[in-house]
Amino acid sequence: MYEDLKEHSISIYGGYINSNKDLLESASGGMATALSRRMIHDGGYVAGVVYSEHMYSAEYIVTNDEKDLDRLKGSKYIDANKNDIYNKVKKLLDAGEKVLFTGLPCIVGALNLMLGREYDNLITCELVCHGPTHTQVHAQYVRYLEEKYGSKVVDFSVKHKEGKWLPTYLYAKFEDGQVFKKEFADTEYGYAFTVYGKNACYNCKFKGNNRTADIMIGDFWGVSEKDSFYNELGVSVVFVHTAKGQKYLESIDELTLFETDFETAVRKNQKVIVSKKKHPEKDSFEKNFKEGGLMYAIEKSSFKSVNAKRGIYNKLPGFVRPLGRKIYYTIVKLKKRLKGRQ
Ligand SMILES: Cc1cc2nc3c(=O)[nH]c(=O)nc-3n(C[C@H](O)[C@H](O)[C@H](O)COP(=O)(O)OP(=O)(O)OC[C@H]3O[C@@H](n4cnc5c(N)ncnc54)[C@H](O)[C@@H]3O)c2cc1C
Ligand code: SF4
Repeated sequence: MYEDLKEHSISIYGGYINSNKDLLESASGGMATALSRRMIHDGGYVAGVVYSEHMYSAEYIVTNDEKDLDRLKGSKYIDANKNDIYNKVKKLLDAGEKVLFTGLPCIVGALNLMLGREYDNLITCELVCHGPTHTQVHAQYVRYLEEKYGSKVVDFSVKHKEGKWLPTYLYAKFEDGQVFKKEFADTEYGYAFTVYGKNACYNCKFKGNNRTADIMIGDFWGVSEKDSFYNELGVSVVFVHTAKGQKYLESIDELTLFETDFETAVRKNQKVIVSKKKHPEKDSFEKNFKEGGLMYAIEKSSFKSVNAKRGIYNKLPGFVRPLGRKIYYTIVKLKKRLKGRQ
């Protein structure tokens, strides 16, 4: 499978959008924003995912309004409502309009299946994907924040960049101007995202060579200052799968792209090749979530103890944290090994 995908990509890049403002507002390297802006400037339409007006869910929209690019920015870690998007896109394509469709691989696959034929006026872009969590997790977390802060959430991100790409923060802005920020991995939402995935994602068919889009983009995990394409504000990985995708990418001049090889691109991004593993707590979390909601499931989970153990870690200065993290996980591994021997 690994070798197949290697053959499948025409070219592979690491890179980012040139504007620092766009880069800071984007999920990784702002690749989707650059692809989208190009399409709108060409007079075409862009389909992608935004948070819905009330902020409790996410949905696919199709638009030719450049103002919508800001709402499209950022990863929404939930299953987005389709809102008849396939029919809307087909209608536009049949009318001869150009469309860029960005979505999760299974959604791009479903669109292709529904269309039933190639369209020269369609460019598809899939995200590297290890699967979203359930919309109810998001909705309950947003409501929890609204209750706590006594004000409506008007802006939300699970991949907020606090001046630089990593670590990523959960960010919420309230109607009355208050702001909530916390490292995503340390939030109840972050824990639910890791533990409580969708069943189909543990055995995803859209891995390896089963690619559905002209271009695939993701986070360039593992990139370091030694790499020519390093940017502390965010870096995207780009796999180009078709000649149409290559031509489209080359037509964009607001990108900095460096060609790289397959091994470097997937070294720390195995979700290109394999599905995520089911978390040991998934079933109990799901049961508790259905019984009493997010905070009840969190209460019953090992989230608290993880946080307690991370208490010392959180007090460490930023530059010592990677070493702290290494030591922590080595201890966890050793404990597991010792337990296995007993
Ligand atoms: C659920 C999920 C899991 C992911 N898992 C991985 C992973 O394991 N490894 C990895 O490298 N990358 C993963 N990604 C992709 C990564 O987080 C970025 O979304 C991607 O690199 C695009 O970043 P960007 O800076 O180019 O996008 P931006 O310029 O910020 O634009 C964001 C784009 O993402 C689209 N989008 C946002 N949320 C969704 C959604 N829920 N469904 C469909 N489209 C959406 C928007 O329509 C927009 O086009 C995942 C994304 C999601 C949504
Ligand atoms: S992991 Fe696979 S099945 Fe799950 S959302 Fe992503 S592409 Fe779809």
